[in-house]
Amino acid sequence: MNPQAAMKYRELDIQTQRDFPSNMRTHGFGWLVRAGYITRESGVLPLGERTPKQIHPSIPVIANECETYFPISTGSIEIIHCPACKYAERKELARFKKSPFSQEEPLPLEKVLTPDCGTIESLANFLNIPKEKTAKALMYVRVADNRFVFVVARGDMTLSEAKLKSAVGETRLAMADEIANAGAAAGYASPIGLKDALIIADDLIPQSANLAAGANESGYHFKNTNYGRDYSAEIIADLVQAKAGDACVNCGGALESTAAILLSTPSEFYFENMLLALAETHHDEKGLTFPKSAAPFDVYLMHVPGKEIDTRAKADEICEAFQRAGIRVLFDDRDERAGVKFNDADLIGCPARVTVGERGLKENKVEVKTRKGGESFSVEVGNIIEAIEDLLDNMTP
Ligand SMILES: [Zn+2]
Repeated sequence: MNPQAAMKYRELDIQTQRDFPSNMRTHGFGWLVRAGYITRESGVLPLGERTPKQIHPSIPVIANECETYFPISTGSIEIIHCPACKYAERKELARFKKSPFSQEEPLPLEKVLTPDCGTIESLANFLNIPKEKTAKALMYVRVADNRFVFVVARGDMTLSEAKLKSAVGETRLAMADEIANAGAAAGYASPIGLKDALIIADDLIPQSANLAAGANESGYHFKNTNYGRDYSAEIIADLVQAKAGDACVNCGGALESTAAILLSTPSEFYFENMLLALAETHHDEKGLTFPKSAAPFDVYLMHVPGKEIDTRAKADEICEAFQRAGIRVLFDDRDERAGVKFNDADLIGCPARVTVGERGLKENKVEVKTRKGGESFSVEVGNIIEAIEDLLDNMTP
């Protein structure tokens, strides 16, 4: 017998709410607050604490070997994933299949006057070329040894600082005097002719011919810079961010991007997020509809206060029988109207509700109702354990 199998509504100090909280960003959050699982500040309440701590198979998750995510528009992390092969990674670390812009023969380097072209957009517009045909420069200083770090990436790509960090270690943005000392010109910088710089290039750069890049002289750019001929890098690495529509690194399928919350890492489990994911995927217009293995209780047992019969005493007996049978039961022991209890039962979302009322008891029966399908039927009091066991056995976990 599990002493925790049965709890009384008043012992758990459940406080259901009539209205959605004003700070509701998603319906799942709103129902959790209304049903008394969490506070408006996302603090887990006793009812929420009884929810089994596992990532339930009925939550559609995105996962890799290390982390499990739940996609949700309000999530604070961005995930790149492949629906075809299930590749998934945080955006800043996601890899993708890069395709060279075009196969061209290297053309002669040409210095051109490019006034007011301090950005990739203005340069591409001025030269009337796509951003793919430009190289962008990003300048940092490595924290460990103060070395000037010059990053080259294609103009249509976005640098991932997380990838840069894994390639060279911690860096900070370079300051004006450091840029000048290295021989670069802000807005017109390129790796050509730098002094003592750690040059690191994205792995697409050696495959991209004839890129426009800075001439390290204000107001001038080079056309047709080519890796290997005009400059080389100490490190070649994947340095740029993947985005939706890029080709999956494993299967070539189109990557998708989604906001998400973190459910687990190898060392941590984010229970509040798991509760939210459960609620987000398991609710209807009346409240939560948790699956059997995720619900804090199997049965919501309630009595409807009677005039002739002590329905509460009878419900108490049934509660003890459930407990002996190992069925997890929440006994709504309040002397409230039936409607109030029905609403709470719907809000809290246990898979089955058992109602002990005077009319039924006159025929020695109680009413059983499923939360999800809404089916209801009468059962002889003596058969209630068996009936609930059958019902639970036939429910999807
Ligand atoms: Zn894929």
